[in-house]
Amino acid sequence: MSTSEWLSGLAVGTSPGIEPRLLHAMPAQTESLSEYERSGGYARQRLVGEQLIEAVESAGLRGRGGAAFPTGMKMRAVRDRPGPRFIVANGEEGEPASVKDRWLLRHRPHLVLDGLLLAAAAIEVDRAYVFVSDRSSAQQLAAAIAELPDGTLQIELATTTPAYVAGEETAVIRAIGGGPALPVDKPPRPFEEGIEGRPTMVANVETLANIPGIATYGAEAFRQVGTATSPGTFLLTLSGACPSPGLYEVPLGTTLRELPAQHERWSDQATGFLLGGFFGGVLGRRALDLRLGYDEARAEGSGLGCGAIVVLGAEDCAVAAVADVMSYFERENAKQCGACIRGTAAMRDVVRALAQGTADVERVERLRSWSMSLRERGACALLDGAAGLAGSLLREFPESVAQHLASPCSRCAELVSDELPTTTRFRLDIDIDIDERD
Ligand code: SF4
Repeated sequence: MSTSEWLSGLAVGTSPGIEPRLLHAMPAQTESLSEYERSGGYARQRLVGEQLIEAVESAGLRGRGGAAFPTGMKMRAVRDRPGPRFIVANGEEGEPASVKDRWLLRHRPHLVLDGLLLAAAAIEVDRAYVFVSDRSSAQQLAAAIAELPDGTLQIELATTTPAYVAGEETAVIRAIGGGPALPVDKPPRPFEEGIEGRPTMVANVETLANIPGIATYGAEAFRQVGTATSPGTFLLTLSGACPSPGLYEVPLGTTLRELPAQHERWSDQATGFLLGGFFGGVLGRRALDLRLGYDEARAEGSGLGCGAIVVLGAEDCAVAAVADVMSYFERENAKQCGACIRGTAAMRDVVRALAQGTADVERVERLRSWSMSLRERGACALLDGAAGLAGSLLREFPESVAQHLASPCSRCAELVSDELPTTTRFRLDIDIDIDERD
């Protein structure tokens, strides 16, 4: 999808009847400090300290960056360790199909900073960081930080070069320490040994943006939407073969059929979905009725990840789509772990051969075996994502795989040329500001 195609159709919206939380102001431009304060931001009369940690635990807020780890548990783990401690707002959005973190940072930087400062005070940190690669986000953040009153906790802006793995939490710690933004083996995890070897909370910016609401209205209000294990709303980046691509704030537990864009009946045309960005794999039409919650998606062998969903339409082929994403994984892997270097290349080769009509049953069975045996073999989750994607293609599209084994597919031949692609066709490029619909 080209930049102009993406920008021309972009909508920003919420589900009918749902009170928006993060897209509340929907500012066309960046929300100023005074605008944010007028809507109740940075208020003094809110839950703080231990009360806030308890509220975040009771609210059941889970990380919105992809791992869905309970945020209250992470806050407590850092706070319970001896200082000095640090906190990082992670806005490095490496996922090509997601724009939500950049939207928040560009449009509502004070909401993110408010959440960061509330969490920082509760876990009693010595210094806070914001980690980004997007230049426009960095500019808006720098301006917002400069607007904060004297005496506010020191917040440092740390920037990096964009890369798929640069936002992985150990890569973030390494980059802030002056090293490359590449993951390292865990444990120790950052909450045990992070910046300068000290306990560090790394939290996605959408996760932090939920904290002011919890501090103001409490855990019960937060749980009024969502499911028991996935409470609250999440930011969904919807792209691909649907007439209303865009950024939506929807309750966790929503199904794809219930999405705001459904009134245009795009789902009738959908043939499949890349779920959770590239990490939840490819799903067939049964995904339309899947509840978009963290555990619900996992129970179906998928994942909600960062909340990005790419719709495949009648013109798409799941085999070609997976070949595209697999090439992307192979190119973006950090070339650190042997299993990942060899595994992503081998899986890509089989899926490309399948798309080009040159694979055989034996190679596909090898792919099936790798999709299980290669999991948890890398320092970060990229290899898991690639293995899960391969497994999901074989599980969700067995007829398509069989057809590609029987005869070459003309659509795939168009989409998967002999040249390896240098990017993914599912990348959403928002280097210029997002256009919004009223
Ligand atoms: S698993 Fe792959 S992407 Fe992750 S650190 Fe190892 S080589 Fe890099």
